[in-house]
Amino acid sequence: MNSTNPNNWKGLPLAEVDTPSLLLDADALQANIDRMAAFFVNRPSGLRPHFKSHKCTKIVRLQMQAGAVGITCAKLGEAEVLADAGIREILIANQIVGHVKIARLIQLAKRAAPIVAVDSEENARMLSAAASAANVEIRALVEVDIGLNRCGVKSGAPALALTRLIASLPGIKFEGLQGYEGHLVDLPDEAERAEKTRAALKPLVETRRLIESSGIPVNIVTGGSTGTYTFTGDFPGVDEVQAGSYAAMDWYYFDIRPEFRQAMSILTTVISRPAPDIAIVDVGRKGVGAEFGPPRVKDLPGASIARFGSEEHASISLPKDCNMSVGDHLELIPSHGCTTSNLYREFIVHRHGVVEDVWPIEGSGQMR
Ligand code: PLP
Repeated sequence: MNSTNPNNWKGLPLAEVDTPSLLLDADALQANIDRMAAFFVNRPSGLRPHFKSHKCTKIVRLQMQAGAVGITCAKLGEAEVLADAGIREILIANQIVGHVKIARLIQLAKRAAPIVAVDSEENARMLSAAASAANVEIRALVEVDIGLNRCGVKSGAPALALTRLIASLPGIKFEGLQGYEGHLVDLPDEAERAEKTRAALKPLVETRRLIESSGIPVNIVTGGSTGTYTFTGDFPGVDEVQAGSYAAMDWYYFDIRPEFRQAMSILTTVISRPAPDIAIVDVGRKGVGAEFGPPRVKDLPGASIARFGSEEHASISLPKDCNMSVGDHLELIPSHGCTTSNLYREFIVHRHGVVEDVWPIEGSGQMR
């Protein structure tokens, strides 16, 4: 057996897996997928899970089997990975700008049905010219800024004006609106999160009604996240929710969405015990997405991260009388799953402590 190649690890107990490795608990993953899917059963809105959180097409398959209406992604390269896996209904929830990318998008439109976000006249005209020259159709959502202050036109008249332009251009089809409430998704107080999300969605849905009353049909209004799916998914006039992190999770979301289980973790090895209460493990900033804080130690009550500044090391403060030895394994839970999955090439999928499968993370590193 070639133990340096993760593809040969099937059947190994986790204690024999080399580290650092990105683990995925198969039962927790399926429970999360089922729980989210159950929310959308008997609701008018549907789930279009975000790929950027896990970047793995094996997980996409499970999400589609559970009833997802399509997949959302952030990057054209992710969309190409999804098309390679046979997914047609792909929303790229971003602007695709520039000749190089638009040429790739046109190729993609020959084997999938991509939707892109648009928030400028220049971009709409470039997409239209390229699509009509190639005799394909690009579906477009007008992105509306609902308070995140990132991309998007203002709601109301500016959104209607861009919609009218898109509806008048060849090669590009107006499909609807995107409004992402990213500034609200992690508000710790649930009532405040709900109230502010509903307030942010109101002008989005009012814009939908304005466009419809001008005679242009709106097929999709989309937004939402793991933090807000219960409010966005229930808001009249919203058709789709783009939640992503719920499947693999991270501790930052777990603190406000404990209904989902922690499926993703990083398996590490204790490489040094410099003091009775300190263990050094073999992963640092290079192997853990830590935008929302250092990782947490899994399944070892009383243990916590003492120092998390190095690229390849983390210092763990151990509880009293903990008999952790050099060579033992410890699991860490990242604060940010999306950037953690970007650092690994595969998930080591395990059930009851044994490696069940190894899934490529095909979207890892797809920055273009
Ligand atoms: N939609 C967009 C456009 C996003 O950028 C994000 C996250 O950054 C999401 C949806 C929601 O993803 P998550 O459920 O991981 O918060």
